[in-house]
Amino acid sequence: MTEAQVSKAAKYLKTIRNFGIMAHIDAGKTTISERVLFFSGKAHKIGEVHDGAATMDYLEEERERGITITSAATQCFWRDHTMNLIDTPGHVDFTAEVERSLRVLDGACAVFDAVSGVEAQSETVWRQATKNHVPRLCFVNKMDRVGADYDMTINSIKDRLGARPALLQLPIGVSKDFRGIVDLVKNVAVFFDEDNENKTYTEGPIPEDLVEDAKKARHNLLEMAAEFDDALLEKVLEDAPVTVPEVMAALRRGTIACSIFPVLCGAALKNKGVQQLLDAVVDYLPCPLDLPAIKGKHPKKKDQDETRAHDPDAPFTALAFKTITEKTGDLTFIRVYSGVLKNGSQVYNASKDKTERIGRLYRMHAAQREQIDEVRAGDICATVGVKYTYTGDTLCDDDKPILLESIDFPDPVISMSIEPKSRSDRDKLGSALSKIAKEDPTFRYFTDQETNETVVAGMGELHLEIIRNRVIRDFGVDVETGAPRVAYKQTLKREVSVEARHIKQSGGSGQYAVARVRFEPIPDSFEVQWENEIKGGSIPREFIPSIERGIRRMAEVGGPDRFQFVGFKAVVWDGQYHDVDSSDLAFEAAGRLAFRMAFLPETTQLLEPVMKVEVTTPEEHLGDVIGDLNSRRARVNDVESRQNLKVVHSEVPIAEMFAYSSRLRSLTQGRGTYAMEPKGYWQVPNELAKKVYEESAKLREANAKRK
Ligand code: GDP
Repeated sequence: MTEAQVSKAAKYLKTIRNFGIMAHIDAGKTTISERVLFFSGKAHKIGEVHDGAATMDYLEEERERGITITSAATQCFWRDHTMNLIDTPGHVDFTAEVERSLRVLDGACAVFDAVSGVEAQSETVWRQATKNHVPRLCFVNKMDRVGADYDMTINSIKDRLGARPALLQLPIGVSKDFRGIVDLVKNVAVFFDEDNENKTYTEGPIPEDLVEDAKKARHNLLEMAAEFDDALLEKVLEDAPVTVPEVMAALRRGTIACSIFPVLCGAALKNKGVQQLLDAVVDYLPCPLDLPAIKGKHPKKKDQDETRAHDPDAPFTALAFKTITEKTGDLTFIRVYSGVLKNGSQVYNASKDKTERIGRLYRMHAAQREQIDEVRAGDICATVGVKYTYTGDTLCDDDKPILLESIDFPDPVISMSIEPKSRSDRDKLGSALSKIAKEDPTFRYFTDQETNETVVAGMGELHLEIIRNRVIRDFGVDVETGAPRVAYKQTLKREVSVEARHIKQSGGSGQYAVARVRFEPIPDSFEVQWENEIKGGSIPREFIPSIERGIRRMAEVGGPDRFQFVGFKAVVWDGQYHDVDSSDLAFEAAGRLAFRMAFLPETTQLLEPVMKVEVTTPEEHLGDVIGDLNSRRARVNDVESRQNLKVVHSEVPIAEMFAYSSRLRSLTQGRGTYAMEPKGYWQVPNELAKKVYEESAKLREANAKRK
């Protein structure tokens, strides 16, 4: 490549911003996204959240709830920059969605409600972003509300997030007098033009009463910027004049290093401050070139590290981060890290070891889409027609394969039964669930082939409710669901050997299969492993996979209680067969029988999902909150002080957390909040396990009677 070509590629990369808006539910993420699309010219009429016309929330479910549950990516333009806005969910039931979007965005705006400051769930998301080294801006929204408090919000960013805020702005007026901001970088005041619905603004001198504060705040900002630029440091120390671009460049460096977090304010609903926020995304958040090369492994040689520079001339590498099933086919969103992907080309899916043909490529602009010929390093697009590629998969060049780290998703913690109201809808239900599972890696479902019963499992009550509604509305299958239950798991306490004899030889074509199987526990594991130790041919080789299938299916379905079995290895070591009467089916049945013989109440250990729970409460209710947590079998790890609040860090079995929010409200007179995320599994104590099984049996009987 000539130098001119190199610089052209770099120039293009410099104009890309892949960013997301992260916020606690109701902080204003949807409103801000709407305004971003409006100001950047992609949406002509501002869609208000409260009248349900939001462009970003194109899933009806989201519109109804006014919350955002899936990460859509949409493209717009600002100051000659390509802005790929990646939507991130705010609700804690969807942490996996947050994790997934954090993997593909290069920077983020964290939004806070100026009345409440940092809230528990924002902390969870903030921590996830820190883990993923995502540079962030902070936007203090709702400055127009009664009780809005910029300083309090900034202090909560310091105290609760342990982050170092860099104030780029001071508000002019507050609540209904919030009319402008002081831009501390440029050292001017900006007033929103009220007679134009604040869609434009006018610069002017800093109001008298703010001059002193602005001077102090600007001085702090310059000192902070100087930490990232020695030349600037000299000037600041000598009180010499500094230029706006050099201050910006230094702040940008600090932001990209995640050392400081620029803070802005506004009132998105009133169109205030959103254009300044877009400017800040361009000025301070990274472009792909600012990031280290992407790392992975060679898919076939697992100890061989591979890296790819963010460069269109490097071999092609992309990560699929979202699948949306549509009537016309699946839409798969990909982030291209290196190289170029052309329409119609063949690529290698290194996660599945399959060759994929890329059908059409699209740029997504909220509701509409635009077909494109190619997509280059640094960019995001959607593709239609891939067959094997799902969320978390790596796509790359055939001859330069690389496997990027996949996205970690926790196991579901809640399950419920789901049945079509009409028997004829059974297939339709199956296909609906398989489509939803493709889109959502934290959703699982399975059907017991013997009883035809289907169970769905997910990350929380809200998650399952949304899935139920989608099945009914988007897929037109009328269903009945059971009450949400804990997604327990079961494991083996000790080694068990069994001989399973599936023999039926009285009249007609017979069935004959004998399998001797040893089941061994694998401590602290959620895997099911399989081994064939048969040497002499006591069972012909072709029947072995049938035994394995029988065992694996039983484990997956989880026996009559529907609690998945994990953490064991099954070894077939001997058996018998019959020349005529043995078949795949007979050996599968023997596998199931072996499983049933091995997993008995005395050999089985029940495991329950445990959540990491963080409760924030005013000090006067601390005793009550802890007492209540203890009655929920919680392990309280730590109590921390934050301003005048106490934060209790604990681990609690999910079984004890149903309807916790209303209990916490009454314990704290509505002032307590909490956030939780999956943490792992505990062994259920024997007494309790007995009760769980008894209740499960009762439920089964009730269901059987209903049918
Ligand atoms: P999300 O849950 O984070 O997506 O938040 P939304 O954008 O749906 O906003 C939640 C509620 O806050 C809606 O009723 C919005 O109209 C309202 N809201 C958003 N931004 C502002 C703001 O700047 N000022 C005020 N007063 N209300 C706002």
